[in-house]
Amino acid sequence: MMTIDNYNFAGKKAIVRVDFNVPLNEEGKITDDTRIRGALPTLKKVLAEGGALIIMSHMGKPKGKVNAKFSLSQIVDAVSEKLGAPVQFAPDCAKAAEAAAALKAGEVLLLENLRFYPEEEGKPVGIDKEDPAYNDAKKAMKESQKEFAKTLASYADCYINDAFGTAHRRHASTAVVADYFDADNKMLGYLMEKEVQAVDNILKDIKRPFTAIMGGSKVSTKIGIIENLMDKVDNLILCGGMTYTFAKAQGGEIGNSIVEMDKLDLALNIIEQAKAKGVNLVLGTDCKAGDDFKNDCNTQICPANAIPEGWEGLDAGPETQKAFAAAIEGAKTILWNGPAGVFEFDNFTAGSRAIAEAIAKATADGAFSLIGGGDSVACINKFGMADQVSYISTGGGALLEAIEGKVLPGVAAIKGE
Ligand code: AMP
Repeated sequence: MMTIDNYNFAGKKAIVRVDFNVPLNEEGKITDDTRIRGALPTLKKVLAEGGALIIMSHMGKPKGKVNAKFSLSQIVDAVSEKLGAPVQFAPDCAKAAEAAAALKAGEVLLLENLRFYPEEEGKPVGIDKEDPAYNDAKKAMKESQKEFAKTLASYADCYINDAFGTAHRRHASTAVVADYFDADNKMLGYLMEKEVQAVDNILKDIKRPFTAIMGGSKVSTKIGIIENLMDKVDNLILCGGMTYTFAKAQGGEIGNSIVEMDKLDLALNIIEQAKAKGVNLVLGTDCKAGDDFKNDCNTQICPANAIPEGWEGLDAGPETQKAFAAAIEGAKTILWNGPAGVFEFDNFTAGSRAIAEAIAKATADGAFSLIGGGDSVACINKFGMADQVSYISTGGGALLEAIEGKVLPGVAAIKGE
């Protein structure tokens, strides 16, 4: 496989898929530039070696229609400033051949939002899935998606994908476009390389013991990951709102706590699987319960399976926090996805904080720790501990699908898996 470090960009035009889907305020100003900063090493590498850049991205969900609110023209100045080079803008991403052809070494062209074309996502628009003509429309769209991807490919000599956030989608710019470059002219960008390596560290090159911490609100959204991890981990902490589905399944009283009544059998099955596979399953034994779903409600510590009527478990209790820390201490590989409580409320952060602190300690002792999935990242940032873990993934859905063991189309299109 070609890598960005082995490629000679001198005199070449590189089309780079980045994730510049940055949040904008009412005036169209960027409120968080993390994603732009994330792509800079790749972009700067091409320019420094005498290549020219054609940058492409989506922004928001314009659903296949031109919409000024989602125009990438709004970020041209910011990209230019961060890149330290002037950035030209192509107002129509599918009609940028001339501008691309005119690019000289060291020059940069940013294409307008790819999702202004329905071909980018490849989903037929304006037709219901139930409509008998839907399948034909879908087939026709797949064909025009190929044409669209071919047009994008025609702008450049090589293709780089550095947009991990969309790697789980088979879109024109994330996967289909790669079909129009041979193996020596397509590669992952630095950010993608780091993400793929991080996932390999927890799924393939595992150093033991391996502790995974899965939290968040529901078992149902995490089940694919839990099942994939069950064959790999030594310790599995299941926390957050899931705690109460497990407590209920085992006959506990959970008051008003969040619960998925249709997942009780699944919870018992997970407990059985863990036993059969010799996985140390850590579930909450006590909790901090509140009498309302708000930060300043009345609270009490009680057993997770004996929560009084009118109260709900909103965070892990002190005994549970100790059990979390014990399962994380000494681990050499750690994955954390999903908070252990309603961390958005300052009075219910202790469980998540106990996890973050134990991870930071294990990391300082040499563990590889990967934090990923929107809310645990927000959590670690809230605690100001982002620099105390090994890697924070930039991809929500993409990371979760990778951990489920699914092949990511954006990665496969380049690695040829
Ligand atoms: P998820 O998107 O599934 O990872 O869930 C994240 C959300 O789960 C966060 O917004 C938390 O506030 C929420 N959460 C965690 N613990 C609980 C709990 N005990 N009760 C209700 N919500 C919870």
